[in-house]
Amino acid sequence: MSASPYAALFEPVKIGPVTAPSRFYQVPHCSGMGHLRPQADAAMRGMKAAGGWGVVCNQETEIHPTSDLSPYPEGRLWDRDDIPALRLMTDAIHAHGALAGIELAHNGAHAANLMTRAPVLAPSEASIETLYPKQARMMDRTDICNLRAWHRQAAINAREAGFDIIYVYAGHEMVLPQHFMLPRLNQRSDEYGGSLENRVRLARELLEETKEAVGDTCAVAFRFAVDEMAGAGGMEAGGEGLEVIKMLADLPDLWDVNVSGWQNDSVTTRFQPEDGYQNSYIAAVKDITQRPVVGVGRLTSPDLMLSMVQKGIVDFIGAARPSIADPFLPAKIRDGRVEEIRECIGCNICVSSDTHAIPIRCTQNPTMGEEWRRGWHPEEIEPVEASGGALVIGAGPAGLECAMQLARRGMDVTLADAGEGMGGRVTREGTLSGLGAWTRVMEHRLYDLRQRGNVQMFTQSRLDADQVAELGLPHVFVATGARWRRDGVGRRHLEAFPVDAAMPILTPDDIMDGAAPPNGPVVIYDDEQIYMGGVLALHLAEAGRDVTLITPAAIVSPWTQMTLEQDRVQRGLIAAGVSTCTGRTMAQIGAGACTTHGIYGEAERTHDCASVVMVTGRARDTALYDALMAMREEGKIALETLQLIGDAAQPGLIADAVYSGHAAARALGQDAGAVEAAFFRREMTALS
Ligand code: ADP
Ligand code: SF4
Repeated sequence: MSASPYAALFEPVKIGPVTAPSRFYQVPHCSGMGHLRPQADAAMRGMKAAGGWGVVCNQETEIHPTSDLSPYPEGRLWDRDDIPALRLMTDAIHAHGALAGIELAHNGAHAANLMTRAPVLAPSEASIETLYPKQARMMDRTDICNLRAWHRQAAINAREAGFDIIYVYAGHEMVLPQHFMLPRLNQRSDEYGGSLENRVRLARELLEETKEAVGDTCAVAFRFAVDEMAGAGGMEAGGEGLEVIKMLADLPDLWDVNVSGWQNDSVTTRFQPEDGYQNSYIAAVKDITQRPVVGVGRLTSPDLMLSMVQKGIVDFIGAARPSIADPFLPAKIRDGRVEEIRECIGCNICVSSDTHAIPIRCTQNPTMGEEWRRGWHPEEIEPVEASGGALVIGAGPAGLECAMQLARRGMDVTLADAGEGMGGRVTREGTLSGLGAWTRVMEHRLYDLRQRGNVQMFTQSRLDADQVAELGLPHVFVATGARWRRDGVGRRHLEAFPVDAAMPILTPDDIMDGAAPPNGPVVIYDDEQIYMGGVLALHLAEAGRDVTLITPAAIVSPWTQMTLEQDRVQRGLIAAGVSTCTGRTMAQIGAGACTTHGIYGEAERTHDCASVVMVTGRARDTALYDALMAMREEGKIALETLQLIGDAAQPGLIADAVYSGHAAARALGQDAGAVEAAFFRREMTALS
C-alpha cells in the first residue's frame, strides 16, 4: 500500500462521531429498487462496499406519507415498520467495513402523493411538479412543526436501522429544505420567508434537531446544491450558495455539495464531456468549513481524484455513476489495477431506470441490479463446464462482452468481426457529435481480452456459414447486430411510404460510415424518437448543413427525457440553427421535396430538400444465424450451442446488447432447466 501513488485516497477520514475507512464515498443515488425491492437494493449496496467504497449511501428516503414518490420505488422510512428492510442494507454494507448513509427526504411539491392521497406540502401555494390535477398547499406553522418532528423521528429510526450517516437533504430541487431556500418557490412573509437567513431556517432547524437526536453516534451530513446553474435569480455558487455555506459552516458533520437540478448534477458526456466538471462550483466550500467535503463530477480517473484531494477541493471522492459502472473501482486503484477500471460513459441509462421506475441497469456494468435476483457479481464468474472452444461472430458490445466473459470462464475464444476494427455500433456511434465517450464500452473489453492468452481476435473477417462449419468450434454466438432501415418503417409507420427513386435516402449507418448527404438541405425524419435523430441533426448542423428535423413526436428526441437530456437536445438544435417540425408524419418523399401532414389532421406541408435521412426502425441481421440454423437442421454442422445475441436478437440500447452478451456467456454450460430456474428471484410482497 505504502508504495501506491494513490495511498492518500485510502486514508481513513473522521466524519463527526464516525470514521470512514477510505475517501471513496458512494453518494446517495436512486436504484429503482428501494422499498419495493429491499433485498436487491441491499445486495447492490453491499457489492459497492465489497468493492472498496468506504461510505455507501442509499437513496432519497421518504420520511412520511406526505412525501410519497409512488410509483417510483425510492427509499421509505415512514415509521418503524420500515426498519427491518433497511437493516438488510446496513448489514450488507457493514459486512465489508464501510459506513452506511441514509438520505432522509421530504419532497414537498416534488412528491405527488399519488398512492397515499395525502395533501402536498410546499413553502407557498403552488402547482405540484408532476403533471396532475392537484395543487400543493402552503405549509402553516403546524405543518412545519410536524415536518421537523417527522424528520427527527426518521433520524432516530434510521439510527436503529443501523445507519452511520444521516442526511439532511437540500438538493436537486426535489426537497423542502431547498424549496424553502429558493425565492421563486418561497414567497412567505413569516420567519421562514424573505431574507436568506429566514429561508435557510428550516434547513438549520433540521440539522440542529438531527444532531440533537442522533448526533452522538451518527454523523449528520448536509447535501446541498450550491448552484442551480440558472444564472442570476437562482442559487449561485458565487452568490447565495456561498452565503448558505457560511451560515451553516460547521453545523453539519459533512458537506455533500453538488449542483442542481438533477440534469445538471448528472449531466451526460454528450453535453459535458469533462470529468470533474463540478469542481469550479464546489472549490470554495472547503475554505469556509472545517468539516469534510464530498463532491462528485463523474470521477473515474485516480489522478484527478488525487489532485482534487491534494488541492484541497474535497476530502471524499463522491460517486454515483462511476460506482454503478464499476463497484470495484476503489479496489482496482488500491491493487494497482487502474487499467481494469470500467469507466462510466456518461450515458445516463442508469438514470433512465429510475425515470422508468424499474431496477437499475448500466451500459458498462451488466451485473448492476442483478446482484440479488440473478446472483451476478461484477468481477467474478464461474469457470465453464462446457468443453471445446467458442466462436463469437461480431465484435460489437454484445460480442465483446460475450467473448470477454467466456474467456474469463476459461474457454478458448475466437472473436471475429467483418469490420476494419472492433466495437461495432459503439465505435460507429462514437464518431457522432457528443458520443465519443461511448467507445469506452469497447476499450474496456478490448483491454481485458488482450490480456488473455485464451483469446484470438480477427478483424476484416466476414464469416459465412461454411467458414463457421470449417472452424469446427462447438459453441457459436452470433452477434451480427442490426442495420437501420431505409424504407421508413418505424414507430408510426408500420408500412413503407412512397419514395421517389430520385431522392437520395440515407440511414444513420450511412452517415456513421462516413457518407455525406449530397449538397443542399437535409431532412431528418425521426420516427424512432429515441436519441439518434437529435444526435444526427446536431452532427450535420455542426458540419455546416442546413437541417430540418421532422418527427411525429410532440418534442424532439422524446425518450431523452428519460436520460435527463431532452431540454439540452432541443435547445442545442435551436442554437445550431436546426429547424424542428414536430407532430408531423411523412406522407411521401418526392424528387426534390417531401410532404408531411400533421398527426392531428393539419394540412399537408411540403419541405424542399436534397436528401432525407431516415431514423426509423432497425432490421436485425440474422442471415448468418439463419444459414447456420438451416445447416444444423440438415445435419451439416454439429453445434452444441448456437445462439443469437445482442441487436441481432433484439434491437435495443447498447446496454441491452452488453447485457445480452453477458447473459449468454453466463448461461453456457448450464442445462435449460437451470437457466430457467435462475431466470430471476422475485421479491414477494408479505401478506399482513
Ligand atoms: P451488437 O450491438 O449486438 O453488439 P453491433 O451492430 O454493434 O451489434 O455489431 C455487430 C458486428 O457484427 C459489426 O461490427 C459487424 O461488422 C459484425 N458482423 C456482422 N456480420 C458479420 C459476419 N458475417 N461475420 C463477422 N462479423 C460480422
Ligand atoms: Fe455510467 Fe451509463 Fe452506467 Fe450510468 S448507465 S453508470 S451513465 S455507464
